[in-house]
Amino acid sequence: MLDAIQAETESAGEALPIDVVSLYPKDMNIYGDSGNVLTIARRLALYGYAPCIHEINQGDPWPAHVDMILGGGGQDTGQKKIIDDLFARADDLRAFAADGVPMLMICGLYQLFGHYFETIDGTRLDGISIIGAHTVGRDVRMIGNLVEHSARFGDIIGYENHSGQTFLDPGVEPLGRVDHEGTGNNGEDHTEGARVNNVIGTYMHGSLLPKNPAISDFLIRSAVERRYGSFEPRQTKEWAAELKRIDAIAAKARTVAANRPR
Ligand code: GLN
Repeated sequence: MLDAIQAETESAGEALPIDVVSLYPKDMNIYGDSGNVLTIARRLALYGYAPCIHEINQGDPWPAHVDMILGGGGQDTGQKKIIDDLFARADDLRAFAADGVPMLMICGLYQLFGHYFETIDGTRLDGISIIGAHTVGRDVRMIGNLVEHSARFGDIIGYENHSGQTFLDPGVEPLGRVDHEGTGNNGEDHTEGARVNNVIGTYMHGSLLPKNPAISDFLIRSAVERRYGSFEPRQTKEWAAELKRIDAIAAKARTVAANRPR
């Protein structure tokens, strides 16, 4: 699928490249998180840019350009596997974040982008503190479809499945607010996820991006503007029709997910 999207763009000629890192697809990729990478690739291509997807696993060097980083969730065991490699990259990741590289970190990586994650068995995994938050494992899992409200992105719809309870530092902006108890960051304060400049951390799987075009477009616009100064999507009839078609499917998926809450 990715190959097809990339081949299609290459044959279209002059498109400007955008380098997207898919971080730890081998160890951190559950509940459809790789769909986020496909969505970004497809939308970038529709906007007339050439998506270059780099799968970066443990030990792999960064590509020459990094315009966006997408990371998925993983069980506690997956998190333990990648933690040393994550620490080896921590300074680079902090520098990318400070330089405005848009990032989306789901669940397991969201937790490790905070200060620490203490698992249910008492193991403490230190995080890399790009997001001011800490997480503690508990014995009840928070599972189900979830709708949260965000001033910036409207309603965000996804699927959560985690036992870690995340608490944001004072002043850290959540990605959204949930109406229900028992869901979101910790099931207590009605927050979900976090956004620190262009870095988004969230518990939303699903995949998240196919159902939430507003977040995809935020990540794409931030990446393109940072690299090229301005975002100028191509404006052909075919482009507009295909985007409309995709967004109509997203709207349907949102309705179904929102009406099948837990
Ligand atoms: N292991 C973590 C938890 O259960 C993350 C799970 C996930 O990424 N879905 O809290």
